[in-house]
Amino acid sequence: MEFGLSDIQLDIKRAAREFAEGEFLKVARECDRAEKIDMGLLQKARELGFVGIFIDEKYGGMGMGFLETAIVMEEFWRVDPGIGSQIMCLPFGSEMIMLFGTEDQKERYLTSICREGKIGAVAVTEPDAGSDVLNVSTRAVRKDDGYCINGSKMFISNGDIADFFVTLCLTNPDAALKTGRHSVIVVDGNSPGIERNKICGKLGIRAHDTAEITFNNVWVPEQNRIGQEGKGFECFMAFFNRSRAYIAAQGVGIAQGALELALRHTKNRKVFGKPLASSEIVQVTLAEMATLTEAARNLTYKAAWKVDKGTIEPALISMAKWYAGEVGVRVVDEALQLHGGYGYIDEYDIGRLYRDAKIVEIYEGAKAIEKLIIGRHLVKGQVSF
Ligand SMILES: Cc1cc2nc3c(=O)[nH]c(=O)nc-3n(C[C@H](O)[C@H](O)[C@H](O)COP(=O)(O)OP(=O)(O)OC[C@H]3O[C@@H](n4cnc5c(N)ncnc54)[C@H](O)[C@@H]3O)c2cc1C
Repeated sequence: MEFGLSDIQLDIKRAAREFAEGEFLKVARECDRAEKIDMGLLQKARELGFVGIFIDEKYGGMGMGFLETAIVMEEFWRVDPGIGSQIMCLPFGSEMIMLFGTEDQKERYLTSICREGKIGAVAVTEPDAGSDVLNVSTRAVRKDDGYCINGSKMFISNGDIADFFVTLCLTNPDAALKTGRHSVIVVDGNSPGIERNKICGKLGIRAHDTAEITFNNVWVPEQNRIGQEGKGFECFMAFFNRSRAYIAAQGVGIAQGALELALRHTKNRKVFGKPLASSEIVQVTLAEMATLTEAARNLTYKAAWKVDKGTIEPALISMAKWYAGEVGVRVVDEALQLHGGYGYIDEYDIGRLYRDAKIVEIYEGAKAIEKLIIGRHLVKGQVSF
């Protein structure tokens, strides 16, 4: 059993930390306040190879795994979740194309992300279908060697800036099995009939673009379908069983960042004439925060490592996503508490982390859904210990 990171992984971790510390904090507060994306920063991230880490070198990516992606995610979220999320989300959907796309689709979409600066998006959620993915009703009806798409998608990351949407559509409403009614179709962003409405006023990750998308008679050629017709649900479950492994790292990054801010503050802040960090009660709190963070990190790295080894364990991946998300929220709450009133004002970064943390418990499978998956696999005896 080997718990240490390899030299290459350590180099990636160092490079991600250096980039995030050097570049994010200069603009983080402004991007959060104005809910804007720093396009220059995204370009720098591309030039340094942080966009499409897991995409094959053949298509211009780094050819690394989901563990390396998780390592970079953790480092970015440790410094600023909004900016970190926006950068890491640029190739969103390419996981699906790598898994189920034809060679032509890979050439078209993966290469355009890595070499031309194009932006992907994943469009599943709808106003009436979030956790209940099978309720997706965006309709794709066959027309002229393709599909005509109508429907609305909600909370779509990169929605306002994406060049293409990897979209879950209802293609076979009469299929006997509920799981056989959907298909995955890539909708090019410049197709006529797409309406985008940026969602403003998010609680956190405000530097990360989110929009509502409406498809009004959007025509898409059949060659844009990913995988077989009727296999959309299956494709998306396979997708989530990869993406959740690196999304878990967001919770780890938040917890690590919050722990470090709390350590710095309590060492500097004098209360009753001595540094706050000299109080045993404070040390116990810091110890709990550090232990939770390390436990979440180990679970996350194990889940991502197994994915890279080709062993997909949905329960393990859900454990990592749920636990790391909860640890992020809990640790940042303790960290803010240790800042006292200073944590409550904008000038201190801990408040932003506090607002950002909650999203990990909501998207990419809300925590109740992760627990349902773990429970179901436990009962069926499909969890390896
Ligand atoms: C900033 C942001 C970015 C997002 N990005 C994307 C994106 O890129 N693409 C995309 O498709 N979606 C995206 N989403 C949507 C996100 O995945 C959904 O919000 C999430 O899946 C939950 O769906 P919902 O909001 O409809 O909540 P609901 O499904 O209505 O659930 C509400 C709550 O009830 C709980 N719950 C649900 N079912 C049960 C049950 N059976 N038992 C007990 N509790 C239950 C859930 O845990 C949840 O907390 C994003 C959301 C946000 C806020």
